[in-house]
Amino acid sequence: MALDFTFTEEQRMLEDNVYKWGMSWLEPQMEHAYEVDEMPKDIFRELAKLGVNGIVFEEKYGGTAMGYVETTLVYETISRISNALSMTVGASQTLAFDNFRRNASEKHKLQVLPKSCTGELIGCLGITEPNAGSDAMGMTTRAVKKGDRYIINGSKIFITNGPVADFMLFYAKTDPEKGPHGISSFWFYPKKTKGFSCEKIKKWGMRTSPTGLLTFEDMEIPEDQLVGGLNKGVAVLTGGLCTERITLTACSLGSQRSCLELSLKYAKERVQFGKPIASFQTIQNKLADMYCGYKASRWLCYSAAAYCDTLTDKRGGKGTDLDRMAAASLLFAGEMGTKIGLDAIQIHGGYGYCTEYGVTRHFLDQKLWEIGAGTSEIRRMIIARELMRDDFRSGL
Ligand SMILES: Cc1cc2nc3c(=O)[nH]c(=O)nc-3n(C[C@H](O)[C@H](O)[C@H](O)COP(=O)(O)OP(=O)(O)OC[C@H]3O[C@@H](n4cnc5c(N)ncnc54)[C@H](O)[C@@H]3O)c2cc1C
Repeated sequence: MALDFTFTEEQRMLEDNVYKWGMSWLEPQMEHAYEVDEMPKDIFRELAKLGVNGIVFEEKYGGTAMGYVETTLVYETISRISNALSMTVGASQTLAFDNFRRNASEKHKLQVLPKSCTGELIGCLGITEPNAGSDAMGMTTRAVKKGDRYIINGSKIFITNGPVADFMLFYAKTDPEKGPHGISSFWFYPKKTKGFSCEKIKKWGMRTSPTGLLTFEDMEIPEDQLVGGLNKGVAVLTGGLCTERITLTACSLGSQRSCLELSLKYAKERVQFGKPIASFQTIQNKLADMYCGYKASRWLCYSAAAYCDTLTDKRGGKGTDLDRMAAASLLFAGEMGTKIGLDAIQIHGGYGYCTEYGVTRHFLDQKLWEIGAGTSEIRRMIIARELMRDDFRSGL
């Protein structure tokens, strides 16, 4: 049995490059950016210089043709500085563009993907609606065919990058009578399309990652911007959900790691009762628990990413082992991230309650990972469903 838990030299270099960039370019602006809730304007162009916008994209689309392990590593590294911006990058590059890459026509892929790699285009993905969250199939956004165009009416809520997106992939009902089998997927350029509007949503966490309430009012898009075939939207949606859940787990991982590192540093420096607080056993217990939680989260996440990289089609969805592994990865890390964030605040005492220490941002951002990309409750339902499959192999 070959079990080598080390990263390759190439992966380490990738991590180092992203971390150095993050500490020199991103970290100095984070406190202010978080306060005013503004995404650093050039972040995608900056990431383009590092060559990490299209990690899994083939070279003909401007990508670097690496795997989901590398994607996860890049998102984890960005989130050591900012969980929120790692989510913004993931929403664009994995949720929107990677899903598009898996399902769109070659002509459109060649038109769109290279611009996502240069940072010219920022993407977003629209599934959730005001009355259809966990029950995504209950969406009511409607696409009606008229000549060679589709007319779209409806709305999408909580859409990451909505307020800044140049590109959007979304789902709408094309045949409502057929329920989930009457959903199709479409793409368009929001900033250039009439009938589209977006309102920015105020949040207490994940600030700097712009979130929008999107409205489509008699919005017209060309018929060939249907992605993956008429009424085949669910296959598009579920096929990409696993890689989304795995790589987004990395946003929690980076914050967990920073919470541990910042808490260790603070506990060794902060003196009370004449001793560093790190010498008190109750503080040591917290640090030990944070370390175990982070390592366990990391293992669940990277083992799922590595397993995904071994699959030819890299698709998850109902009835696949990847479905269970991806849901477990985000479930565990999401809940652990909140706990680790709380422990980090506690170790920092009153200073942890103030904004100048980075732990506060990490803590505020972490809670989202019990909600976004399917809540903890829904992930448990998925894991249980897959465990009960007749061909479930407990060793995987
Ligand atoms: C910051 C942020 C960014 C997001 N980004 C995106 C994005 O880019 N694109 C996108 O499409 N969506 C996005 N979302 C939406 C996110 O995926 C949804 O919020 C999530 O799926 C939950 O839906 P909901 O908020 O409507 O909650 P609801 O579905 O209304 O759930 C409310 C509560 O009921 C529970 N519940 C619901 N059904 C069941 C059940 N059957 N059994 C047990 N409990 C249940 C839930 O677990 C939850 O605790 C984002 C959300 C946030 C907050």
